[in-house]
Amino acid sequence: MAESEISSRLAAVRDRIRAACLATGRDPREVNLLAVSKTKPAAMVVEAMDCGQHDFGENYLQEAIDKIESVPTSVCWHFVGAIQSNKTRQIAVNFDWAHAVSSEKVARRLGAQRPAGRAPLKALIQVNISAETSKSGVSPDQAPILARAIAGFEGIEVCGLMAIPAPDPNEAVRRRAFSQLRALRDSIRDDNMPEFTELSMGMTDDLELAVAEGATWVRIGTAIFGNRG
Ligand SMILES: *Cc1c(COP(=O)(O)O)cnc(C)c1O
Repeated sequence: MAESEISSRLAAVRDRIRAACLATGRDPREVNLLAVSKTKPAAMVVEAMDCGQHDFGENYLQEAIDKIESVPTSVCWHFVGAIQSNKTRQIAVNFDWAHAVSSEKVARRLGAQRPAGRAPLKALIQVNISAETSKSGVSPDQAPILARAIAGFEGIEVCGLMAIPAPDPNEAVRRRAFSQLRALRDSIRDDNMPEFTELSMGMTDDLELAVAEGATWVRIGTAIFGNRG
């Protein structure tokens, strides 16, 4: 895809978010756009940045680090992939958000390895909302326990939940997964964790459903950068 298309694709995604907000009575400023640039070259990130895009998501650590080093430092990097405990240091040093935290051990390491003087790493707990045996993420029952544990760690700030619902041809089923994630976020937040506000959910194919159910971050790759390999 030509880099010059990124500008119009980004505008189209922002329009989709705005329309979904209007349709459901939300303020578009509540929904943040995370541009997922995995497998795409740094030049495309710079192009999107020049169009005002501030947050970028990556999934493969080594590829991400090479890209981060060649892009101006004003952008904010989010690690959206699953996190192995031997990779926590590089994530704590190179990223400001981790969207798929799913164990106390990983969270503790991320916090301990966050460089002194930097703001705490912002963490979202990945929830296996569709109860798929193959997917990563904690069960809904475990999420409040993990949230409380992370809240006691230095160097890391637990901010909310993330999920990737199972693909399902039935829109109502997909929407219900988003709605369940929101209810879980609400119950954790309302149990004396007022900063637990974020909901990272919705990708290219389902951003409208996710916005309708309260997403505060939508993670969009294909609609901005084109198909991946
Ligand atoms: C790749 C990826 C996305 C973006 O998906 P698209 O369907 O291309 O928008 C979002 N979230 C995660 C965790 C991803 O790995």
